[in-house]
Amino acid sequence: MLERIKKIRFDSIKFKFGLFFTSALAVILVFYMVVVYFGQRYALYRDFDRKLAEKAQGVTNAINSFLPVLEDDKRGFNSAVNTVFLYEGVPLGDSYAEVQEQWLKKMTELNLRDDYIVLATAEGEPVASSRNLNKEILPHFLLGVESLEKAVLFQSIQFAKQRLRLITVPYYYKNKRMYLLQVGSSLSPMNKILYGRMLFALTIILPVLAFAGLLGGMASERILSPMKKLTGIARHITYKDLSARVQVEHVDEELRYLVEAFNEMISRLDKSFRYIAQFSSNVAHELKTPLTIIKGETELALMQKRESQEYQRVIKVTQDEADGMLRIVEDLLLLSRLEYQPQVLNFERLNFSVFIKGVYEQIKKTAERKNISLKLTGNENPVLINADEVHLKRMFINLINNAVKFTHPGGRIIITSQRENKKLKVAIKDTGVGIKPQDLEKIFDRFFHADHLNQDKESGSGLGLSIVQSIIKIHDGDISVESQPQKGSTFTITLPIV
Ligand code: ADP
Repeated sequence: MLERIKKIRFDSIKFKFGLFFTSALAVILVFYMVVVYFGQRYALYRDFDRKLAEKAQGVTNAINSFLPVLEDDKRGFNSAVNTVFLYEGVPLGDSYAEVQEQWLKKMTELNLRDDYIVLATAEGEPVASSRNLNKEILPHFLLGVESLEKAVLFQSIQFAKQRLRLITVPYYYKNKRMYLLQVGSSLSPMNKILYGRMLFALTIILPVLAFAGLLGGMASERILSPMKKLTGIARHITYKDLSARVQVEHVDEELRYLVEAFNEMISRLDKSFRYIAQFSSNVAHELKTPLTIIKGETELALMQKRESQEYQRVIKVTQDEADGMLRIVEDLLLLSRLEYQPQVLNFERLNFSVFIKGVYEQIKKTAERKNISLKLTGNENPVLINADEVHLKRMFINLINNAVKFTHPGGRIIITSQRENKKLKVAIKDTGVGIKPQDLEKIFDRFFHADHLNQDKESGSGLGLSIVQSIIKIHDGDISVESQPQKGSTFTITLPIV
């Protein structure tokens, strides 16, 4: 038992739940008991008072019924009173012996032996009292009776260790309110009943509370069992195995949300880990090709003495490949900055019409060199946007460069910009090689580049559109693409206008 108590964790939900359950029930039961106790007490007192009133009435009736038999004088009255109070009358002579016998029988029926009876003058002076009333109790009885204004008075008095209930009624002698009659009864038997009932209720309450605590603990354990499962699974999850999921069929609604969120989190982690693994392998692959070329070329050059032009060629190859690698590393750094440190961007108001004209002028020559016509049409009125000029320029150059790269000489590229409500829409339309439908959703993935039969040798690393998408996202914009293989592609960018 002690071991079990020691095992209880006081900061556990199970313990708190059990405690809460027990306390709540205890409060309800105590409240219920108090109500029942006072209700019963009230009912018992009312019953008790009614019986006292009946007794007082019995005593009055008894005295009154004796009076006509006796001579109508002090002696007769006293004899009647004594018969009632002391169960003995002043001997009235043989002629009354039989009547007196009947009175005493009547008194036995009234059963006043355990009660206290007092007859006092209207001023509170005792005239007669039952045998059990000694001089010490008597003053307690008569206390305050002179102020009796009501027809009947009920009092509770304490004497020694006894609690008595007392009724005081006026007694009319010869139609005059001459005396006061008091009948008192001990409250102990009634209190014993009341305490007995309370004790019984209390002895029942304790096991009920213990049972409630146990039930509370069990209920919480049942409710929290998915948590245990959740903890178990969480403990065993490693990056190597993210396939574990908690079953949600038999879980309560509130916990189901937690379990679902947990499962979703593992799915996201799973996806992230796969992505990181794929990403690292792509980075390694992209860097491996130029490194292999550099290694091969230099090894070959060092195998024997070469002409200085040959060395120059190898150095040039090395330089080109190093440039390529540097571009990849810079692109990756830029991507991670865009994702994790967007605060490095410097946003300011930009007149888009002026800005796009600048981009157009800068790239026109590249297009011309490849004999591609590049046109800029659309809104010439000032349109203000909130943007980081350097990155936005990089984004447009990336897109237009792609259009140039994937369009055959003699083709056309048109840049159109127009306002649409609170948005600015810029479309870059080319008449190039287009994108296969199955590649459309992949082109924004890192390191994705489609295999084009007649692809330029200057094909990039596949990071360009990822960078474009990140920059657009930071500018609260959107990008979409429509394309038809061999006909051309249109990239449409939406940016919010200030
Ligand atoms: P990269 O150009 O370095 O290969 P990008 O991320 O810029 O990488 O583009 C990814 C892929 O999307 C390209 O390899 C190409 O297949 C396709 N693509 C992008 N722009 C166009 C375009 N204007 N026309 C046809 N295909 C395109």
